[in-house]
Amino acid sequence: MRLRMAGSEDMLPFKLVYHDGYDLNLGAHVFPSQKFRLIADKLLSEGIASKEDFLRPEPASDSDILRVHTAEWVTKLKTGTLTPSDIMKLEVPYSRELVDAFWLAAGGTILAAQSALRDGFGCNLGGGFHHAYPGHGEGFCAIHDVAVAIRRMQSDGEIRKAMVVDTDVHHGNGTAAIFGKDKSVFTLSIHQVNNYPAHKPASTLDLNMEDGVSDEEYLGALLPAVHHSIDKFQPDMVFYLGGADPYREDQLGGLDISIKGLKARDAGVFEEARKRKIPVVTTLAGGYARRVEDTVQIHVNTILAAKEVAEKYPQARQAGN
Ligand SMILES: [Zn+2]
Repeated sequence: MRLRMAGSEDMLPFKLVYHDGYDLNLGAHVFPSQKFRLIADKLLSEGIASKEDFLRPEPASDSDILRVHTAEWVTKLKTGTLTPSDIMKLEVPYSRELVDAFWLAAGGTILAAQSALRDGFGCNLGGGFHHAYPGHGEGFCAIHDVAVAIRRMQSDGEIRKAMVVDTDVHHGNGTAAIFGKDKSVFTLSIHQVNNYPAHKPASTLDLNMEDGVSDEEYLGALLPAVHHSIDKFQPDMVFYLGGADPYREDQLGGLDISIKGLKARDAGVFEEARKRKIPVVTTLAGGYARRVEDTVQIHVNTILAAKEVAEKYPQARQAGN
């Protein structure tokens, strides 16, 4: 059992998992990998979080990664033997730092899941690499951190059933491929149907949005679906991918969602889980707004939404867990 220290009112009621090594150092690339640091800095500079709220992850172990990915793919990444076709699909240049960043992100989502068991929420300020398949990477995603964390939690006996709620504007194809035949994991993806990836293997529930849908239509599709899916499936843990790219100013998205609408989305999903005492793990996923400040604000708002929902539904788990 952990006791709150006097004077801890200013602390967040959950932990933020972050490491400077999340930055993929891509330079002038549409993927703003400096966003991870900018989000952590903004949470601190605006007094939303203090240094004590942060946890620093270790890289995932290879055995954690190998519960999801093939030995061949792991070897290619670790030895720098990706083929030109592998690199073309991944859409980010190969480097040793890139590989380290993906192992760290997976370790970060594992750590966030462990802290969610204790605190009700656990937030990785990274991760959400939902386009990674067991044997190859795609669309800026080499290692599927969320799948790695789900398999680790199941292997540790901490959870049996997990639900993935993926709100990135792009379909969660890697997630669907990894868990397609696994009844212990419910995958929900809400995405723009007329967008990457071309091939969309079926999630347990796919919510296909047409181009240009608004806040009202988007939230009206997502929140009742999350409500009914949680009631029916009764997951032990929810993994939330809070994509910033459904935003109307996104360069790789084509929906018309406002910043306010995205925060309402985050809060709405969190409420569905929290009022049923189901721990929630959050990861960031994509965000390519014309102004990187907007992407950062949307991700910061996910943390604010978690804080507000945690305060509205106080500590969901019994002390000692
Ligand atoms: Zn995306």
